[in-house]
Amino acid sequence: MSFPNVYTHRKVAESSAKSCDICFKPSTSVLITPDNKDFFYVCPGHLKDPGFCTPKIDQAAVEARKKRELEAEIARVKKEYEEKQKKKKEKEKEKQKEKDKKDDKSKDKDKDKDSKTDDDEKKDDGASPAPEEEEEEPRVFELKSTFYEARRNKKRQAEIAKRNRERLQDPSFFPSVPKNLP
Ligand SMILES: [Zn+2]
Repeated sequence: MSFPNVYTHRKVAESSAKSCDICFKPSTSVLITPDNKDFFYVCPGHLKDPGFCTPKIDQAAVEARKKRELEAEIARVKKEYEEKQKKKKEKEKEKQKEKDKKDDKSKDKDKDKDSKTDDDEKKDDGASPAPEEEEEEPRVFELKSTFYEARRNKKRQAEIAKRNRERLQDPSFFPSVPKNLP
């Protein structure tokens, strides 16, 4: 029985905790192969040990994250630009006001502009801030060859033990006394 060296980290309920394969402390973390052919309990701390396993890069997840980062960057630049434009507008308005103060005739025009500014500000408040990026923990791991070999040996031995048990239960397994002895 073979299985790939691809283990996904899963959490089980506190009540299902079993002893870690390495240090025998109870753990709720399980490493499992994609087809469930092999699994074992392990402390989450060991997953960070480069001597035990290395995180496998999930290409799809990386692509998705890159895309999200790019979109966030575009949104940020756009917002920055809009804010700059807004500030520029405000500055111009300030300048205009200064000018208007000097010029009494343009008072009505100035009021008109102020109402417009209020509308702009309302629109700006409605924009939701970019969501915080959550730190993603690697979920898929490749065991170091010694640990992977140990898993395979364990599995092989379990297979042999199972086969032996089945043989013992099978009455035809015991050889009958040879009949054609000379
Ligand atoms: Zn442990």
